[in-house]
Amino acid sequence: MSPSPQPLPEGQTRQALARMTAALGEPHRDLVILGEGNTSMRVDEERFLVKASGHGFQGITGEGFVCMRFAPILALLDSDEDVDEARLMATYGSAKDDPEDSRRPSVETVFHAGLLQLPGVQAVAHTHPTAINALSCCQQWPAAFQGRCFPDEAVVCGPETVLVDYLDPGVALARAVVGAAEAYVQRHGQAPKMLVMRNHGLIVCGADAAECERITAMAVKAARIRAGALASGGLTTLDEATTAHLLARPDEKYRQRQLAGNS
Ligand SMILES: [Zn+2]
Repeated sequence: MSPSPQPLPEGQTRQALARMTAALGEPHRDLVILGEGNTSMRVDEERFLVKASGHGFQGITGEGFVCMRFAPILALLDSDEDVDEARLMATYGSAKDDPEDSRRPSVETVFHAGLLQLPGVQAVAHTHPTAINALSCCQQWPAAFQGRCFPDEAVVCGPETVLVDYLDPGVALARAVVGAAEAYVQRHGQAPKMLVMRNHGLIVCGADAAECERITAMAVKAARIRAGALASGGLTTLDEATTAHLLARPDEKYRQRQLAGNS
């Protein structure tokens, strides 16, 4: 299991999160438009930053994020009660680190809080990439995302993608997302790198902001390759043993470290 990364001070976390979010919002990447998507980073054991509702990614600064306390939000995630919009908003209000902050955190804040609890996860980025949603909305779901198609997809995006069926954004979806991610941790002994929600979009989990950018870029490239393969007669994936072998190879581990910038 990866060790938990050391958290940055809040100011640096805001800057790193804003840089990652603005980069993901560059129009040529075709990941989000208008107010789509949301991102988050852990500040410390008790708090995290999440994008404020209504902010677009493009050109966002550190002021576009709300600092929240984990505990009240994780309590919602862990209960099995129905949570209506009014209760969710009241919980968000009580979870703000600065009670005077009038901005509203993203409606998808609950799954960010849950995913930031997974081992080694310091940053989460949720986008609606056109290339991913071309497959998440197609009749070949879930087969379109099965397995791994080429070595770099396995190295950057991990051994498998967590797939989540459609639910309206809110607490029920967050419970499904975090539950599926926790089941992955049980299977693989590490947090998933990428999750896809049917008819909705992509979530990536990284040890830092830069890893979230790398996983998003590779997930989008892989989705384009998958779409091309499906259009050319069908998908051929690497078998599981090959994927496991790739991930265990010393030179691939070296590449993973190189990509992470800490060789
Ligand atoms: Zn979304």
